[in-house]
Amino acid sequence: MFLDFFASKGHEVVASSPLVPANDPTLLFTNAGMVQFKETFLGQETRKYTRAVTTQRCVRAGGKHNDLENVGYTARHHTFFEMLGNFSFGDYFKREAIQYAWEFLTETLALPPEKLWITVFEEDDEAADIWLKEIGVSADRFSRIGAKDNFWSMGDTGPCGPCSEIFYDHGEDIAGGPPGTPEEDGDRYIEIWNLVFMQFDRSADGTLTPLPKPSVDTGMGLERLAAVLQHVHNNYEIDLFQHLIEAIQALSGTEDSSNFSLRVIADHIRSCSFMIADGVHPSNEGRGYVLRRIIRRAIRHGHKLGLKEAFFHKLVQPLVNEMGDAFPELKQAQALVEKALLQEENRFADTLDNGLRILDQAIEDMGDKEIPGETVFLLYDTYGFPIDLTADIARERGLTIDIAGFERAMEAQRTRARSASQFAGGLSEQIAIDGETAFCGYSQTQETGTITAIIAD
Ligand code: ATP
Ligand code: MG
Ligand code: MG
Ligand code: MG
Repeated sequence: MFLDFFASKGHEVVASSPLVPANDPTLLFTNAGMVQFKETFLGQETRKYTRAVTTQRCVRAGGKHNDLENVGYTARHHTFFEMLGNFSFGDYFKREAIQYAWEFLTETLALPPEKLWITVFEEDDEAADIWLKEIGVSADRFSRIGAKDNFWSMGDTGPCGPCSEIFYDHGEDIAGGPPGTPEEDGDRYIEIWNLVFMQFDRSADGTLTPLPKPSVDTGMGLERLAAVLQHVHNNYEIDLFQHLIEAIQALSGTEDSSNFSLRVIADHIRSCSFMIADGVHPSNEGRGYVLRRIIRRAIRHGHKLGLKEAFFHKLVQPLVNEMGDAFPELKQAQALVEKALLQEENRFADTLDNGLRILDQAIEDMGDKEIPGETVFLLYDTYGFPIDLTADIARERGLTIDIAGFERAMEAQRTRARSASQFAGGLSEQIAIDGETAFCGYSQTQETGTITAIIAD
């Protein structure tokens, strides 16, 4: 319906681009619909159309937009999701963008206007006037918001601009307040659509340069919209996720379909499968390490549900059943995805059990609420526990991890490695002996800063 609606308004229907952005080393994964049009917005590339519409597969599990730590905890965040978007490249601007969005939601989808809440960037009087005076939305369901939420940018550099967002009110039975209030973190008012008025190119030093022509970039989460249309209040209750969850329940025998681990696994099978289908392979650095970390988190959640044998790869078939028609590239890559996941499951299986036992012991022994850095390092270095996996377990138990202590242990390891490598063989010989799992950390020793950022995000 979304694609048809915008096609009828003169938009070219463009296919989703892959999760690995072409020629963009600044970005880990495609995290929004605008990514494939970045050069067009910047005026560095022209296309044969000035209006486009897409449904874009996205991953937000690293970099500026990172929702990995939200998965399962909120009703609305996934690591992988589909973003519906309409785009104007120097064609229409605020007025039409707002009119189209309102028409699609209230006429095509027939959502009641009184369930919608609108925000604009605090300084954007033009957008405020269009909403309040031309569209006629009620001032009671309207707010002006600061740059943190209403000035959108893809990353630290690139196209950006003020935005206007549309929220859906899931009703007073759900905890949470409207945007701009201290209670907004709840799940009552869910942001469904962001209309970005692309006006600037941000450079590395923070300077904003006006774009050649003001443009429009919008993004609406398909899963959030599906929750609204299916009258459920949590994305994990929509049909697609329920089918994935049923498949995991069939393997694990878990009765409660709202079980936290079921939701996390259902989320992770989507991001992991699509990443592999788009050419990412589990490894110890960059994109491959993000993938490895997510797979290991999923395996650990399976373990919690009593799934001690390899199970994750068995969820690719149910996923293909749900999404294979819309994404033939997933269907084509099915065998490859299954193989890569099974391999990673086998690789982690040997150390997961022992690592968890060590962690449990350490938690029992410790006096305070912080897991010692040496334990975090031991798990990381010898048992293949990415630091965020340990942090994830700690969080579930109301504990924290000692990141500074972890880094000290890492530094000590580095010093030892340096002095060892002054002798014949050294580090590379050691790696060969200890094998891949045991040394899951070496190639990202230089990346400790990044790892810390992920935890803090
Ligand atoms: P939120 O404030 O809920 O984290 P956002 O402001 O970060 O969302 P945008 O960057 O504005 O999101 O992206 C546009 C739209 O994409 C959002 O309005 C939402 O519908 C959808 N979306 C964003 N992040 C996610 C996610 N992690 N999972 C599912 N949908 C998402
Ligand atoms: Mg967000
Ligand atoms: Mg937001
Ligand atoms: Mg937003």
